[in-house]
This record gives sequence, structure tokens and C-alpha cells, in this order.
Amino acid sequence: MKAIKITSPFHAEITEVPKPEITAPDDVIIRVTSGGICGSDIGIYNGTNSLATYPRLIGHEFGGIVEAVGPAVTGIEPGSQAAADPVLSCGKCYACRIGRHNVCRNLEVMGVHRDGGFAEYVKVPAKNVHLYHKKLDESLLGLAEPYTIGAEICKRAQIQAGDQVLIMGSGPIGICAMQVAKRQGAQVILSDLVKERLEKAKSMGADETVLVPEENLEERLEQFTDGEGIPVVVDTVCTPASLEDAVRLACPAGRIVCLGLKDQPSKICMADITKKELTIVGSRLNNNCFGEVIAGFEDGSLNPEQLMTKAYHYTDIMEALTMITEHPKDVLKLVLKFEG
Ligand SMILES: [Zn+2]
Ligand SMILES: [Zn+2]
Repeated sequence: MKAIKITSPFHAEITEVPKPEITAPDDVIIRVTSGGICGSDIGIYNGTNSLATYPRLIGHEFGGIVEAVGPAVTGIEPGSQAAADPVLSCGKCYACRIGRHNVCRNLEVMGVHRDGGFAEYVKVPAKNVHLYHKKLDESLLGLAEPYTIGAEICKRAQIQAGDQVLIMGSGPIGICAMQVAKRQGAQVILSDLVKERLEKAKSMGADETVLVPEENLEERLEQFTDGEGIPVVVDTVCTPASLEDAVRLACPAGRIVCLGLKDQPSKICMADITKKELTIVGSRLNNNCFGEVIAGFEDGSLNPEQLMTKAYHYTDIMEALTMITEHPKDVLKLVLKFEG
């Protein structure tokens, strides 16, 4: 079968690899129909993803049609549409034992630490397979994973109906988090530097948007919250300065979700944390969020068809990578299609 391999930074190739076979009783083979290209795939391609090793079959956002299941698998029938959770954990470490397997000490993410789903077929443990119940366009089957990132953010922020949320950054993660927060009854204001990205967010349900270089974010937050200040801040911009902004902007008793993987420090004033008794939490990958996301796809509150900017045949991977690199403002999520 064919698969997309990054052999070393800046070297991507369509390669022939053995088709996976059932070897463990709980194996499931998925015929991949589509996958979403993520910033971290770009990072593996251009050598800036410090977690990746080479050569690597990339792709952690993928889905398709169940092709075959191992003898111990129940409830997953061949022919079903499915999404795959790329998070693999040990089940034994502290994080796993307390139900936080997405930060397992021995964490492996398909497409990053081990081979992923940008291939014609992929093998996934049954517990990582999540079925769609309503038929979805095959090009969208890989887009549950980016929404699970949004669902994890909302879980970590303990978002509840009526909460007011600032999401800094209107890229795919910001928009997925916005739609999940809206689904949970929150009011969401998004900020970004790019007008087109904010227009997209608005069309997908954001209550308000703030174009940062032209508008005063603090003033807009004052208006948005009737002078209360913003209780939840999600930082998808992920620079040292954006985390400083989040700590400054959050109101007393506020919650901040941090997503960045950079190792540069932020200058955060401890008094801001103490005096406001802020809760600052990290959010990584997803912890069993696929069920919620698939429910959102099926009730129409989450719109993967609007997240997808364009679909490419997988053999045009270089064209897709070029599009993302050269026109980042015009791209929300590119999809690779694997059928045929
Ligand atoms: Zn991703
Ligand atoms: Zn573990």
C-alpha cells in the first residue's frame, strides 16, 4: 500500500509499505479515506517538531472505513465509518492511573512518535476506534481529532453554560475550541491579527471578534463582560507574550488554558496569579473526547465541513504543504483524500 513518509526534514515521499495485518486480538484495520494536515505535521516536515523521529509515516488526524477487526473486537463492524484517536498510553503510570492518559509518561502519538494514518490502511487498537453513527462525507472522517483538541481545552477550562470565554487566535484550534465552547452554552469572543480568520470564526458561530492591531482588546473585553473582566482565557497563540497577556487579562478567579509547546519562558508576575487566584492549566491532545465530538458532528453544532478549506488527493501532498506554507492566512484545514 501507499503511505506518506517524511524521511528527513524537508523530504516527503509517497512510499510503498506493507499493508497492516491483524496480529493482536484487539486490532482494527481502517481503510483511510481522509486525514487533516496539522501544524505539527508541518513541524515534522520542516524539522521543528522536537518530538518527532525519522523516518516517519505522518498523520494523526485520520479516519475511514473499518476494513477488518481482530477476534476479540466487539461492536465494531467492517464497513462502518470511523475516526481514530492517535493517543496511545501505557495504562500504568500515575497520569494513566488517575484517568489522564493523554499525558502518560510513556505517551506515543500515532504520526509523531510512531507511524500514523496518512496511508491507505492503518492499524489501530479497538479502544482507539470511534464510530460515526450518521453517514458523513468521507473527506471529513479525519476531522474529529482536531475538534477533540477543542473539547479537551473546554474540559480543562471547566467551561459551563453561560461562561464568557476569550480565545486568543482564530486558527483551527481556536475555531474548534470556539465551536465546542458554544456547544456547551458559553459566549465566545475571539481575537486574531488576521481579519479573514476572524470573519471565518464569526461565520462559524463566534459571538464577537477582535482584530488586535486595530482594536483595543481590553476595552472590548470590558464591553463584552459588562466591566466584569473575562473569566476564561484560551491561549492558542502560544508565544511567551500571549501567555503574559492571558494572565493580565483574566479576571479574579479566572481560568487560563495554555497550549504552547515552546520552551521559551514567559515573564509572568506571581502577584497576578496570587491576587486573582488564577487557575492556569495545560491542555494536551485529548482525553476520551471523541464521543462528544462525534455527537457534535451529528447534532450539527460542530461543522467539520466549514473547517475544511480544501481537499487534496494524497499524492498532491507537496502541493498542500506549499499552500499551507505560502498562504497561511487562506488556510484553516487542508484535507488529504486517500480513496482511489
Ligand atoms: Zn492535529
Ligand atoms: Zn501511562
